[in-house]
Amino acid sequence: MKIYYHCEMCGIDIAVLDVEHVDEVKLGFNCLTSDERKDIIEVDDLRNTMHVKSLCDDCAERLGLNREESRIH
Ligand SMILES: [Zn+2]
Repeated sequence: MKIYYHCEMCGIDIAVLDVEHVDEVKLGFNCLTSDERKDIIEVDDLRNTMHVKSLCDDCAERLGLNREESRIH
């Protein structure tokens, strides 16, 4: 499955992961509530892809956030 990370603010593609198995713990999805999950994660079964809302470095900086995006890599 391909996991696409999009910036919620400006819409650019941040990263694409190609995984055989979606490891929710590794991806940090296990920390999300079911509401957050619905809001952040969108699964496209037909295309075998997953879309995840995130923030790019620029937008995170603009918002004054210092989110740890390094766990994506
Ligand atoms: Zn952005």
